[in-house]
Amino acid sequence: MPAKTISPKTNHWRFETKAIHEGQNPDPATGAVIVPIYQTSTYVQEELGKHKGYEYSRTGNPTRKALEDSLAALENGTFGLAFSSGMAAASTVMNLFSQGDHLIVTDDVYGGTFRLFERVLKKYGLSFTFTDTREIQNTEKALQKNTKGIWIETPTNPLLKLVDLKKTAEFAKKNHLISICDNTFATPYFQNPLDFDLDLVVHSTTKYLGGHSDVVGGGVVTNRNDLYETIKFHQNAVGGIPGPFDSWLVLRGIKTLAVRMVQHEKNALKIAKMLENHPSVLKVNYPGLHSHPQHQLAEQQMRGFGGMISFEIKGGLESARNLLNHTKLFSLAESLGGVESLIEHPATMTHASLPQAAREKLGISDGLIRVSVGIENIEDLTTELENALNQSRRK
Ligand SMILES: *Cc1c(COP(=O)(O)O)cnc(C)c1O
Repeated sequence: MPAKTISPKTNHWRFETKAIHEGQNPDPATGAVIVPIYQTSTYVQEELGKHKGYEYSRTGNPTRKALEDSLAALENGTFGLAFSSGMAAASTVMNLFSQGDHLIVTDDVYGGTFRLFERVLKKYGLSFTFTDTREIQNTEKALQKNTKGIWIETPTNPLLKLVDLKKTAEFAKKNHLISICDNTFATPYFQNPLDFDLDLVVHSTTKYLGGHSDVVGGGVVTNRNDLYETIKFHQNAVGGIPGPFDSWLVLRGIKTLAVRMVQHEKNALKIAKMLENHPSVLKVNYPGLHSHPQHQLAEQQMRGFGGMISFEIKGGLESARNLLNHTKLFSLAESLGGVESLIEHPATMTHASLPQAAREKLGISDGLIRVSVGIENIEDLTTELENALNQSRRK
């Protein structure tokens, strides 16, 4: 007897239910409740051209397909595609563009995205204008005759600046641009760019979706059939696919995304408030704070504010170094979005590849610290951070 299947795109399900069930029917061969790791490269054909939908695992794999359907459902999209990393996802999306095309890009995009555009894709004849997309006037000013796309990130890394999704989508439609949003920081639990009519959502599933700092992956979701077909063609042609085990790990992470994000946010808000009142702190960047200049926009387009905070410590590099030497629970490490809290120094770590002048222009000072707030006990987290801040001051 074939296992009872759950129909795809069951729109009536709410987020938590979709995260656990969408795309993840019991295995038709065995009834396994969890999608198996189909660790195979190829599939038998009963006779020439007759197969069960899979021929070769670069083109398609059932574990990856489950992840792709899950990603689509979480972003309220029709089509999902999974990749071996966030950068593989970004790079494959960029195959939509051709020599001579120009794109407008958020000026403090993820460093790897900046590097891909500036150091790799420029060689192939693409050009980019990096601008402060917080103000739509800046975006409009960057428009050229050959502009074909707009790539935004909101909230940004590490300064937690926001881009207006609705205005960006309207601008893109009016000018016939493909609009792309990197939604890694917010996650589909807190923000769905496709609902605002953007064309494509890109994710590094390495972060919150995987959620346990044990896998590298990426994803793309869209409602547009034409874009899906072209990106899927390039997914197969270029080959940046995730393996079955990595796909399975991300799927497993997604099941608890909702409960994790609730806790990440709760903890982040408490820490942001503690930092805001601490005498060693000059400024806190967190969209959930009333002091955030775009707090109102965050309330309009997000359902929550996420788990990422950055703040500026008094005393610049020296104080920053002292602080980072006094945290244990907050591990000193790059990356983000796992259950464990991480702390880092953008100027010398994640954003070191940016020239100092560019860092200063964006507001990434030597005293800036970025925190990925985990889901440990909040008292343990605040106590440690407060002690570390006091130590850094005493030095
Ligand atoms: C990490 C990250 C990426 C790149 O993803 P990888 O999985 O590391 O390749 C892209 N965008 C954002 C916002 C990220 O945080």
